[in-house]
Amino acid sequence: MIEASTILKGNAFQVEPEYAERLEELLALCRKNLRSVDEELIRKAFRVSYWAHRNDRRASGELYIAHPLAVARIYVDQIGFDDIGVAAALLHDVVEDTELSLEFIRETFDEKIALIIDGLTKISGAFESRDISKAENVRKLMLSMASDIRVIFVKFADRLHNMQTLDSLAPHKRFRIASETLNLFAPLAHRFGFNALKSELEDLCLSAIHPEEFQEITSELRDTQRERDAYVARFIEPLKARLLDEGISFEMYGRSKNLHSIYRKMKRQDKPLSEIYDIFAIRIILEGEGTKGKEDCWRVYSIITDLYKPMTERFRDFLSVPKSNGYQSLHTTVFGPEGRRMEVQIRTREMHEIAEKGVAAHWKYKEDIKSDDQEMDRLLTWVRDLLEDPESESAAEFVTDFRLNLYDEEIYIFTPRGDLFTLPSGATPVDFAYLVHTQVGFHCIGAKVNGKMVPLSYKLKSGDQVEIITSKKQTPNPDWIKFVVTQKARSRIRHWINEKRRQAQVLGKESWDKRSARAGLSVTENELARLASKLKFPNLQQMYFEIGSGLYDVNDLVKYVRSSLKEGETTKENEETLRLQYETFLDSAQSTGKPALLIDGELHSDIVTDYATCCNPIPGDSVFGFLSRTGVIKVHRVSCRNAPNLILNRADRIIPVEWSRQKDVQFVAALRVMGEDRVGILSDLTQVVSKNLKTNIRSITISTDDGVFEGNLVLFVSDLEHLRRLIDRIKRIGGIHGVYRFEEQSDES
Ligand code: MN
Repeated sequence: MIEASTILKGNAFQVEPEYAERLEELLALCRKNLRSVDEELIRKAFRVSYWAHRNDRRASGELYIAHPLAVARIYVDQIGFDDIGVAAALLHDVVEDTELSLEFIRETFDEKIALIIDGLTKISGAFESRDISKAENVRKLMLSMASDIRVIFVKFADRLHNMQTLDSLAPHKRFRIASETLNLFAPLAHRFGFNALKSELEDLCLSAIHPEEFQEITSELRDTQRERDAYVARFIEPLKARLLDEGISFEMYGRSKNLHSIYRKMKRQDKPLSEIYDIFAIRIILEGEGTKGKEDCWRVYSIITDLYKPMTERFRDFLSVPKSNGYQSLHTTVFGPEGRRMEVQIRTREMHEIAEKGVAAHWKYKEDIKSDDQEMDRLLTWVRDLLEDPESESAAEFVTDFRLNLYDEEIYIFTPRGDLFTLPSGATPVDFAYLVHTQVGFHCIGAKVNGKMVPLSYKLKSGDQVEIITSKKQTPNPDWIKFVVTQKARSRIRHWINEKRRQAQVLGKESWDKRSARAGLSVTENELARLASKLKFPNLQQMYFEIGSGLYDVNDLVKYVRSSLKEGETTKENEETLRLQYETFLDSAQSTGKPALLIDGELHSDIVTDYATCCNPIPGDSVFGFLSRTGVIKVHRVSCRNAPNLILNRADRIIPVEWSRQKDVQFVAALRVMGEDRVGILSDLTQVVSKNLKTNIRSITISTDDGVFEGNLVLFVSDLEHLRRLIDRIKRIGGIHGVYRFEEQSDES
């Protein structure tokens, strides 16, 4: 194994000048964007990565180090969190793709960086394996994030560079990576507020997945560019003059929405690009900071609405109430020159940075490191909440819920006390109730919105004041699942429904067991499942559920089972039922010799025992004793058809018994033998049984029908082992196809 010192020595190997230069550019960018920069750390990470990847090349032909360098650059540029993340970005593929181990990283750097690299290696593995469901990927991603937020930050940067260089991949790979990016990474990036990064990811996805539409939108935007620029200039001119008069320093420009959201709008409204009006906005960024900056925003707003008439219904104040990802801005739509509608976004430089770079920008502006940690905590809590959702839902549901919760517009809801909650749009009072507290959701019975009673399915609007009315007696209504939109409400309600369902199934089964035992019916689970499907239940559990919840009368089932047993319906399916087909009653077979039983663990010569003729137990069978009215203990096999009935209804008479080791006693066992009706088969059978295995035959009855041979043998055996040997041996006789132990069916007890 290579020593770190060897790699880090200045003269150990030469870095090509081109890449040395890119490293210097990266460092310069770090000094510009990061609060503090440990240059030594970054140089060290670069050297280790350069050496580790020295023999690898990208599909483009460049040295592989170009990729980690680009990822680190994106990280500094778009996320700009800290220098540890930059070092991790440089090292992100080292453990996965080269001979260097995680141990090496830990020793050469430190525990923290090793942890990040470990997380990155693990999620990379999660995405490569095809058979892992998408939800599982999401969970892994979340878990890795929960260990260190930089894992996901570096992963974002890595993914963006992979998307930027997608062309060098095979088309089918391109598509897979692009759709994964669109469905998972873009929404996640949005949740963290990395808007610039999210927009670029989405546009690259659009170009990969719908190249024609992408081309169309791009060229149409280009064609109308000049006209649009001219209009923006006309719009801005009077505004600029006023702002300068007021002594406000600002930056102002027109900007179109990203291509992907234009594409989405076209799809949603089913209109061509020329008819979509809000693809374009004027953005005003104010240089004032803090309270002054905020005040400036309102001043600018009032100047704009002096000049141009606003559409009041399209006013949005994200200044007083930021979005949950930290986004702050004032949005207003006004009628500009020629009466054309134009959206204007007003924000301070700091708000702008947060809008573009999300959470990571907080660190740049907040002086107090502690409050940064709180922000980090808030994010990690959010991640953990998602992870610790008690319901393991189906993969598809998890991903869908997750995506909906990320992408949808948010609304702001107040409690009667004035506390603020953020919900996705379309949320109902039930969603709100679950958000406030699981118990509030559980017991909610009605809701008042702005003082008026509304149905629980009512769609809340931003600014609504919501009061939830609860009742101790109320429990969730399964119908709620149809209208709730939050993951939390949906999963809690689903959990409750499943729990209810499970309870009803248990109840239904109990009721069937009791009722069928009383009716003296004995049906295996398999047979019952078959009957359930004849009755058009999708499965046995559904039948139990319907019995348990009163939808299906257990007495009807008993009647049905009884009549189908009579008709001999329970046949032909498997060996178990095959046995029934050949059912004959065995004459009251008696065991010879004395009982060889321990009763309650002891030998009792004074207690009379007998072997039940319904199941003819032999030593080795699991058995129990049943105290009959005459004081005789009858021994039954546990698998006896009458056992459930006896155990359930006469539990007080059940006596534990077990076999003692006495060998000199013989028991009756009955076998059914089936095969081809050929000459000599009977003599072969008796030969094997009586001569080879020295077994006494009590009786043999045979019948033949259309070339098929059936025989019932009643034999004396000493124990189960003896019986098994017999069965094995008989099976090997030519022409014999089946040998089964069987017993008669009778209701004796
Ligand atoms: Mn990579």
